[in-house]
Amino acid sequence: MIPQEFEYTAPATLHEALALIEGGERKILAGGMSLIPLMKLRLAAPGEVVDLGRVPGLGGITETDGVVRIGAMSTHHQVEISPIIRAKCPLLAETASHIGDVQVRNMGTMGGSVAHSDPAADYPAALLALEARFRLISAKSDRTVPASEFFVDAFTTALEPGEIVLEAQVPVEPSTEGHSYQKVAHPASGFAVVGVAARIQQSAGKITVARLGITGMGPRAFRATQAEQLLESGAPIAQAIGAIGIGEEANSDLYADGDYRRHLARVYTARAVAIAMSRAS
Ligand SMILES: Cc1cc2nc3c(=O)[nH]c(=O)nc-3n(C[C@H](O)[C@H](O)[C@H](O)COP(=O)(O)OP(=O)(O)OC[C@H]3O[C@@H](n4cnc5c(N)ncnc54)[C@H](O)[C@@H]3O)c2cc1C
Repeated sequence: MIPQEFEYTAPATLHEALALIEGGERKILAGGMSLIPLMKLRLAAPGEVVDLGRVPGLGGITETDGVVRIGAMSTHHQVEISPIIRAKCPLLAETASHIGDVQVRNMGTMGGSVAHSDPAADYPAALLALEARFRLISAKSDRTVPASEFFVDAFTTALEPGEIVLEAQVPVEPSTEGHSYQKVAHPASGFAVVGVAARIQQSAGKITVARLGITGMGPRAFRATQAEQLLESGAPIAQAIGAIGIGEEANSDLYADGDYRRHLARVYTARAVAIAMSRAS
């Protein structure tokens, strides 16, 4: 449980941090809730670690022109309690409240969670359903990538060497919309065996907009676009739910095999959609 020896640097500016990680050899440290356990188990052994904890300007939650900007170093707890997020994209606040325990929510960061791209992480489901984008910067580049292109595979994202997640940009949810995050939490860690984020808009009793993000089932979180289209076309909800996970790989481990995870994804999507519909006006 003792990590291999490593160099530790705590830059004081973003410019300095980006210069240090240029080339991609050094490892970034944010909340340390995923990286430190990996280092202690020696599943990761970076020679040099660059701590973003003292870099100003990487936190903060603001809203301008219908977009909520969440700085990468915002902790899960800050996301959970932010009045802006609760009012403008409540699905994300609800999702953050389901992450791990109090200690993890106080240390872990939004940027660290999405960059780590754990297949069982909670945020990706909500950020996909919310059609969020990530602003990624390096010493030489500054670009935004939609969440649908950011999560590539288990522990693999669209981040290039030397790039960091600067912020998530989340469109404000319409006030008439209903949302829900439903999760089967692993009893030991709290990670999502399956987690489903749903957003529903309705008119005259019919679903007009459906957005579904699913995490935990497969190697990466995904949008259930076929089910979304069926819901928006007026198909029976059971038919839409039956389309969840078709064509998607499902993970098997000691806790739950792939077929069971796919089953859970359907059951929990049905629950998330029902709750989101009951909250939509
Ligand atoms: C006991 C326990 C229970 C947990 N339960 C859950 C759970 O229920 N749901 C859940 O979703 N998560 C859970 N987690 C994980 C937790 O949410 C972590 O906080 C998160 O995965 C990583 O965030 P971090 O800030 O701690 O990142 P770190 O551990 O510091 O870094 C993780 C990785 O991301 C990279 N990184 C960090 N920040 C950036 C950035 N801004 N740009 C680019 N790369 C970056 C690092 O180099 C590293 O590779 C749990 C963790 C623990 C220890």
